[in-house]
Amino acid sequence: MGNKYDANLIVIGAGSGGLVTAYIAAAVKAKVILIEKGDMGGDCLNRGCVPSKSLIASAKFIHELKNSREFGVKEATAQFDFADVMQRVKRVIDSIAPNDSVERYTSLGVEVIKGEAEITSAHTVKVNDKELSAKNIVIATGGSPFVPPIEGIDKIDYFTSDTIWDLTELPERMLILGGGPIGCELAQCFARFGSKVSIVEMLPQIMVREDPEIADHIVEVFSSEGIDILTSHRAEKIIVAGDTKHLICDNEGKRVEIAFDKILVAVGRAANLQGYGLENLNVPESKHRTIDTNEYLQAGYPNIYAVGDVVGPYQFTHAAAHQAWYAAVNALFSPFKKFKVDYSVLPWVTYTDPEVARVGLNEQDAIQKNIKYEVTRYDLGELDRAKTDGHAVGTVKVLTAAGKDKILGATIIGKHAGELIAEFALAMRHGLGLNKILGTIHAYPTWMEANKFVAGNWKKNHAPQWILNLLEKFHRWRRN
Ligand SMILES: Cc1cc2nc3c(=O)[nH]c(=O)nc-3n(C[C@H](O)[C@H](O)[C@H](O)COP(=O)(O)OP(=O)(O)OC[C@H]3O[C@@H](n4cnc5c(N)ncnc54)[C@H](O)[C@@H]3O)c2cc1C
Repeated sequence: MGNKYDANLIVIGAGSGGLVTAYIAAAVKAKVILIEKGDMGGDCLNRGCVPSKSLIASAKFIHELKNSREFGVKEATAQFDFADVMQRVKRVIDSIAPNDSVERYTSLGVEVIKGEAEITSAHTVKVNDKELSAKNIVIATGGSPFVPPIEGIDKIDYFTSDTIWDLTELPERMLILGGGPIGCELAQCFARFGSKVSIVEMLPQIMVREDPEIADHIVEVFSSEGIDILTSHRAEKIIVAGDTKHLICDNEGKRVEIAFDKILVAVGRAANLQGYGLENLNVPESKHRTIDTNEYLQAGYPNIYAVGDVVGPYQFTHAAAHQAWYAAVNALFSPFKKFKVDYSVLPWVTYTDPEVARVGLNEQDAIQKNIKYEVTRYDLGELDRAKTDGHAVGTVKVLTAAGKDKILGATIIGKHAGELIAEFALAMRHGLGLNKILGTIHAYPTWMEANKFVAGNWKKNHAPQWILNLLEKFHRWRRN
């Protein structure tokens, strides 16, 4: 007897969310069909994490040469062609692409179809003129750069994070619209390659999710690298006069004109909601214009799930992968087993130099949520390994519950912050407090010691004074 459905799962989109969903489903022997209309790997591999981190690596290398005297090298200069740097970006993508390829997923047992999917009913999807059916559908269609309707923007060739990777000539004056993570990471790259970079941000602070002291540190570094940061500047109009382009901004009632050669629009990313049949199904939309799912990641129908940037609230590869586990397991094993998605310990990193890494609450979150907290800091300027490496700047800042060693969140700014944050994520995930980090041997001299030292600072601040007074008396008596 034939099966009612062609597959247990049809997954639409082979980006981070869709690939992991398909991987998990195939690993537990479900029949899964993965449909991708563009490049396997989606944004992360082709237009996001991988190219941006590759570009950052080249920019950092060039920048570090400028600091050669610190390392006892009289002079070191870099001669480079920007086109070669962009070629390297492509090579790195190519080197990672096999992980996400049709061949690999086919070998894992996934049926991969290249084509544009359209959902035709709660159980059917059309691709390449063929209708396929599945017990469950997982939507993993991602997001796209949001381009605000600024007057005149349609008259120029602007870049977004989708198109910037085709650039082969370094712009003389680069304007970055948006001071979020993507804008900041790329602004620093272009400045380090030699462009004159301006960041225009509508809000009073760049990297608005982070505490002001963290954003101020980045502003200080960026300014020292020649980046012009214009916060509280609302972009209103683009004017083209001959060869020169100007962005007209409103800065608290003042008109400001910024000349530029190329502009990168990085003001946020919008969920892809149109063009593949969502309209016909009345899948609910959230107030952030993403697919509105419940906590099981079901999207209005018991058998339709959604993951990744199309859902949010965190637009990260690891957030998409995390959701993918829930969507795959809930879809395949519901109603026997169902899990609510848990975002309580979700780290993220902005790959500026210094890096900014976060997990859990920062101060502005705790204040907004009315949660009582204590702050403990450790200055990376004191860390032996930071000194040997010539990068002794930054802070480890930990929020704990009042009077307890329970970690509510951590923010780290400094070299390798993205690596250091993992220990706090692990501790939070498994309910380990600062005492446990303090009681763990960390190799000397490593950057990770900073985590132990912040725990040590917490301990010092919480040492019971009466016991110390008693101990002082005890030792005095022992000296008799
Ligand atoms: C410049 C930049 C840097 C970033 N850096 C980081 C970082 O360092 N760390 C991090 O965690 N995140 C980073 N991100 C975010 C990360 O890339 C995204 O969160 C992640 O790619 C989301 O995965 P997704 O599966 O939801 O969507 P996507 O990766 O966008 O995948 C969606 C896929 O669905 C396909 N699709 C859409 N509609 C259809 C259809 N109808 N039929 C068939 N296929 C369809 C698309 O072609 C696409 O391949 C960055 C993003 C950008 C832009």
